[in-house]
Amino acid sequence: MVKQVEHILAPREPHFVGDGFRVHNFIPGVQPLSMQRMDPFIMLDYNSLVTFPPAESPRGVGVHPHRGFETVTIAYKGRVEHHDSTGAGGVIGEGDVQWMTAGAGILHKEFHEKEWSKQGGPFQMVQLWVNLPAKHKREQPGYQSITKENIVKVPILAEGDNVVGQVEVIAGNYKGQKGPAHTFSPIQLMNVRFSKPGKADFSFVAGENTGLLVIEGSVKVNGSGLVQTNHFVLLGQAGEDFTIESEAEALVLILSGEPLHEPIAAHGPFVMNTKAELMEAFEDYQNGKFGKLD
Ligand code: MN
Repeated sequence: MVKQVEHILAPREPHFVGDGFRVHNFIPGVQPLSMQRMDPFIMLDYNSLVTFPPAESPRGVGVHPHRGFETVTIAYKGRVEHHDSTGAGGVIGEGDVQWMTAGAGILHKEFHEKEWSKQGGPFQMVQLWVNLPAKHKREQPGYQSITKENIVKVPILAEGDNVVGQVEVIAGNYKGQKGPAHTFSPIQLMNVRFSKPGKADFSFVAGENTGLLVIEGSVKVNGSGLVQTNHFVLLGQAGEDFTIESEAEALVLILSGEPLHEPIAAHGPFVMNTKAELMEAFEDYQNGKFGKLD
């Protein structure tokens, strides 16, 4: 059964997160992409392609906490440097993905990478928040650094076995090939990259919440009208199958996940199941229980 196109949604006006990320919020800000409708995806900020001028002092967002979920940063253009209260840090380069489990609690900061910042240039990123099931909300904080090289590539074939592009699997699986990310609930996260005109077919488990974000070019979903760059396609929960078709080069991010169906109590950087747990998170943060980071 086909997964129907429910909505094609334009990006909202962008706003700045700190001074380094100019984002269009889709989840939960664009109707009907609420945390409940997109469960387990609780936030999607999209920094559409923008050029930053050179800066001696890197732009970004200073020290802030997270608890109760995972943050996934996908770098399409530009480089980001991060540091956290466990003493870990690193650089997310072009094509890389950082999957951070905030779990029980972490402090971190995210800035344009120092050398990149001095040059400036095109910058394009996605930050997605994936909720953790109640029983995993207190996991020990940690990272999965998924480099461009580690992402599993599955060719998209046209007639005569001509390769017209590739599906880059970050999490979940495509045509039986599994992506590198460990997740705490069933998640599919993949980039669909067309280098030539072509069509790719997908089949996910019915009942998943599924959305597509067009990063480059324009595509048709299930034979729809052309969905333009920076637009989001919400698919219905029913059904399994859909197609993405492009007449030129294009890049689309697919997110799909099995809903957790648990109560959500969210405020700012904390996403828990109850109000009492939210209060506890604020208290723990104020009492320095998230560690220390300058
Ligand atoms: Mn953060």
